[in-house]
Amino acid sequence: MRYYDRLIFELSKKGRTGYSLQAPQVKAECTIPSGLLRAEAPALPEVSEVDVVRHYTNLSQMNFGVDTGFYPLGSCTMKYNPKINEEMANLAGFQGIHPLQDASTVKGVKEVYDVLDSYLATITGMKHFTFKPCAGAHGELTGLMIMRSYHMSRGDMARTKVIVPDSAHGTNPASASVCGLEIVVVKSNANGLVDVEDLKPLLGPDIAGIMMTNPNTCGLFEKDIKEIADLVHECGGLLYYDGANMNPLLGAVRPGEMGFDIMHLNLHKTFSTPHGGGGPGSGPVGVCEKLVPFLGQNVSGFNGNFGVIVRALAYVLMLGKQNLRLAGRLATLNANYIKESLRDAYKLPIGSVCKHEFVFDGLIDDGSATGKPGATTLDVAKRLLDFGYHAPTIYFPLLFHQALMIEPTETESKETLDAFIDVMHTIAAEAAQDPEILHAAPHCAPITRPDETTAARNPILKYQDEA
Ligand SMILES: *Cc1c(COP(=O)(O)O)cnc(C)c1O
Repeated sequence: MRYYDRLIFELSKKGRTGYSLQAPQVKAECTIPSGLLRAEAPALPEVSEVDVVRHYTNLSQMNFGVDTGFYPLGSCTMKYNPKINEEMANLAGFQGIHPLQDASTVKGVKEVYDVLDSYLATITGMKHFTFKPCAGAHGELTGLMIMRSYHMSRGDMARTKVIVPDSAHGTNPASASVCGLEIVVVKSNANGLVDVEDLKPLLGPDIAGIMMTNPNTCGLFEKDIKEIADLVHECGGLLYYDGANMNPLLGAVRPGEMGFDIMHLNLHKTFSTPHGGGGPGSGPVGVCEKLVPFLGQNVSGFNGNFGVIVRALAYVLMLGKQNLRLAGRLATLNANYIKESLRDAYKLPIGSVCKHEFVFDGLIDDGSATGKPGATTLDVAKRLLDFGYHAPTIYFPLLFHQALMIEPTETESKETLDAFIDVMHTIAAEAAQDPEILHAAPHCAPITRPDETTAARNPILKYQDEA
């Protein structure tokens, strides 16, 4: 058994301590009502300082992050987070504030919100942003509440449906449903774009609006967006833009000019804050001029995750106009470079130029000619772990059966991309020769193939004391 295979409770030895505290200098009187006091001390592990340090350091090294390796997770923009962002978010004047502090004592904080608001408005073509939403999905809900409030303020109560493309990120229909709106699905055509002919008959007086991602989750630019915007506006609906991954458009196109009325950005994707594991995010919502009066939706107690907002501002200031545009172009170039380099080994259902991400539909030769079961996208993803890469997004979008969705991001060098391409070719060759190598992968990870459904539905997150 490796040292770090044990839980910290299993390292416990009675009487061992990792601290030494001075005896209290003042006599404290206990005012906690006796009914609320524990009868017995909690069962905490008794370990030395070095045990604790090694335990948590080893655990951290079993994890994977952009600081340890390439993380091409499609639709998630896992890009490098410049360390200066952390320094800025850690400034004493930002760290020590309290949300209930008097506004006159936090003028600098107010300025951070105002300056970032004006930059995001310039970048997106919206009029103003609210920073309350704490995630992309939270932004979607906020945006849809704005959409609904707008229709209701005009006495237009019949608009209870929202159109969502079949390629949409799962949070889109989920947010619409939480907002109490009925979902109408519009189909994608063979090129992976919203089918305008399928859209037309769906439009009418019951439509509150449409939610779109552009470039969409296949990484493709919805080139009919102007026509779609006109059609939706003509029917009295509004256009919602899911700007979670706006990287490729930075400095090139503004959602406001494409005809969108409401949008969210994921600061924790497009504007570099680290994310994953559900940890603090920010999904500011921007609106066009006529919707500014509806911006005050009360979706969180305070003004969102301030640390994430500071990081986004630091990032925008550090890059400046020229380099933000360059980031957009590099995101696009990197994705197309990988796509073109691997199309000889992986099925490419949509071959056109992509934006920041693209989708393969499994292996061209999955090895089933060997008489063994063919290697699937899951097998490729698991095998990548053996080579030290985080797997791309798999089985999303739902348009394809063996989707493998790759987003390299703009922060990776050509050398990193080439190394990944080599590994993807190696894996494809292994699959063709002996798919069993892939079925049994990962061979080098601490855990191989957990029962993922049970792990997700019934996770055991707490130490169960056998005594
Ligand atoms: C990540 C993502 C979201 C949801 O963002 P969260 O912060 O995870 O709630 C929504 N739409 C798209 C396209 C995304 O990539």
